[in-house]
Amino acid sequence: MKRLVTSLLLASALVGGHAAAQEKVLNLYNARHYQTDEALYANFTKATGIKINRIDGKEDEMFERIRREGTASPADVFLTVDAARLQLADEAGLFAPVRSKVLESRIPAEFRDTLGNHWFGFSFRARVVAYHKDKVKPEDVDTFLEMADPKLKGKLCVRSGGHVYNRTLMAAMIHHHGDQKAEAWARGIVANLAREPKGGDTDQIRAVAAGECDVGITNHYYYARLMASTKPEDQEVVRRVALVFPDQGTVGTHLNISGGGMLKHAPNKEAAVKFLEYLASDEAQAYFANGNNEWPVVPGAKFDNPQLAAMGKFKVDKLSAATLARDTPKAQRMIDRAGWK
Ligand code: FE
Repeated sequence: MKRLVTSLLLASALVGGHAAAQEKVLNLYNARHYQTDEALYANFTKATGIKINRIDGKEDEMFERIRREGTASPADVFLTVDAARLQLADEAGLFAPVRSKVLESRIPAEFRDTLGNHWFGFSFRARVVAYHKDKVKPEDVDTFLEMADPKLKGKLCVRSGGHVYNRTLMAAMIHHHGDQKAEAWARGIVANLAREPKGGDTDQIRAVAAGECDVGITNHYYYARLMASTKPEDQEVVRRVALVFPDQGTVGTHLNISGGGMLKHAPNKEAAVKFLEYLASDEAQAYFANGNNEWPVVPGAKFDNPQLAAMGKFKVDKLSAATLARDTPKAQRMIDRAGWK
């Protein structure tokens, strides 16, 4: 219902008369699913006077909608999670190149597309291992390769192989270990499952705490959310489960990104560039960290988040988001062949 109302408001703003035309607006198609982003958007309006008409939806729905709307699309900016989705949107010709010294200088190349100005990552997340403190020694589960080792048979929880977080991780495995070893790894994951893949990342962490499995694979921020929670049941989960950042001795921990770009048919291109530049500002970068426990992509961006501070510094896998995106179709085929549902 809320989405319908937003759509109607957006439609009326677009066909509206002079009053609407004079008001500076940005039409944002948003597939980030985090409540805490509200402050991020409100702050942009406060700083620029540009009103945001936001439509929230699922990642693939938003992509399809922009494609379907074509030249008539009111969308100025598309925000989503995962490099592969951004790359897919780019290959479908949805994004316009953005000329911006701010974005170029602030966002490192590994968080952008190969041309460097079609899409931009604004925050990154680590894919990590959650383990039961009483049952597992962290040094036994500190690489992604070990997730497929027979020693974890019947002990692993992970969400669907079709989810982008796992698909992109699979792309990284292909890059680091080659096709054969990567595909064997996917089969090993399936062989180690404690249960059929189900639920989101938080469900895997809870399943470890509940004793259904000894280890789970998750993005770090779902655990950070539990750390920050005041609910006794969440605190109990954190008491039982800890994280290990895999592959510290070798390639570094795998990352996935959240980002976006300006759309080719954006009616408000000036506002779109301003918004993207805002997302790379010190202030917005701090919001990604403080609001949603993600790390800012802008080097040296300051933030104050006790959960992230507790996780400490770690070695990141430097594979570019564009490289990962390129290999995700192959990754998905391997996941399917392995039966990682
Ligand atoms: Fe997520």
